[in-house]
Amino acid sequence: MKIARRIEGLQPYLFVEINKKIAEKRAKGEEIINFAVGDPDIPTPPHIIESLCQAAQDPANHRYPESAGLPELRQAIAEWYKKRFDVTLDPATEVLPLIGSKEGIGHIALCFIDPGDVALVPDPGYPVYALGTQMAGGRPYYLSLKEENGFLPDFRGIKDFILDKTRILWINYPNNPTGAVAGLDFFKLVVEFAKKHDILVCHDGPYTEVSYDGYQPPSLLQAEGAKDVGIEFHSFSKSYNMTGWRIGMAVGNAVAIGALKTFKSNIDSGIPQAIQRMAIAALNGPQSCIPEHNAVYQRRRDLICEVLTNIGLQVNVPKASLYVWAKVPEGYNSVDFATELLDQIGVAVTPGVGYGRGGEGYVRFSLTIPDVSLVKGLSKLSGWRNTRRLVVKK
Ligand code: PLP
Repeated sequence: MKIARRIEGLQPYLFVEINKKIAEKRAKGEEIINFAVGDPDIPTPPHIIESLCQAAQDPANHRYPESAGLPELRQAIAEWYKKRFDVTLDPATEVLPLIGSKEGIGHIALCFIDPGDVALVPDPGYPVYALGTQMAGGRPYYLSLKEENGFLPDFRGIKDFILDKTRILWINYPNNPTGAVAGLDFFKLVVEFAKKHDILVCHDGPYTEVSYDGYQPPSLLQAEGAKDVGIEFHSFSKSYNMTGWRIGMAVGNAVAIGALKTFKSNIDSGIPQAIQRMAIAALNGPQSCIPEHNAVYQRRRDLICEVLTNIGLQVNVPKASLYVWAKVPEGYNSVDFATELLDQIGVAVTPGVGYGRGGEGYVRFSLTIPDVSLVKGLSKLSGWRNTRRLVVKK
């Protein structure tokens, strides 16, 4: 059987490999504390689950959904954007529910990238931006996110012949994996740049509701003129602890939303309606779960940063997102260090290089670890230096 070339060269998704290694160790009876995956451990709030139970009883929800999503859901998303960001959206043309935001992020390239076209992709970055581009026959052009620039990309220096072929610019704030945030001034600059070069901006913003110390991350669509050139991907996964239910949305520029809707209507049959009802309950119901969850993550963030600093790792204390991005100690690369933590103290973290070359020299700790495991993991990390190998690799 001949597998298509576009799949042949594809490596398994980053977390599939990490989870496999963890499962092998656990099968041998080793205790592994997993800081690697960003998947909220706190359950979906009860009122959202209740809406699912009710919706499951309604035969109308047993049939094919419409790929454009329930009108009530599109309306609820538009109202939430108005309340949260003061952004006005037309629910008919500027809102599209997705089967989790990863689905839309992967598919948007097929709507805008022809073979040979370019997408500007952050490095380090969520791997799907580059993979989607490659699946469409395009080429990712990597923009380094450097610590000295606050992990924001610098567009100066991109050559004209690259810009001529560029169709999409990917940005993501609050950022995975660095935990960096961007202000409206940056989004304004992005809109100006995209207008000048006729590029679609895809802002991936699943972490805008996961923030600390009173900080409120902005939406790209708050920048003047953003809807002329941009769309924003958002998700129920992290805001309402709904990763398992697979529901997200794309909002913004009507042409881009329309193209994605046309594509999706041809290859999927929408989101199960009972799950769309959960999303409506999430947006229209009480929002107190958001600050409650953020208080838990903030406490964990502080504990993790304290322990990592104590053992000599340099960390950026994040204002938002679910991640602490820590520099590996001298003499290690990110895979060496992640492997050493896993093999010597049973702590799993994500090596930064898994997010691209620009992630080399860092590892990522996720805050979505239950408190009992967190305490064990932090105690193991506190003792890491005592278990350290004697000869440090160069
Ligand atoms: N974008 C980023 C930056 C993410 O970190 C994730 C998930 O971890 C997603 C998108 C996908 O989220 P969803 O569960 O909505 O597919």
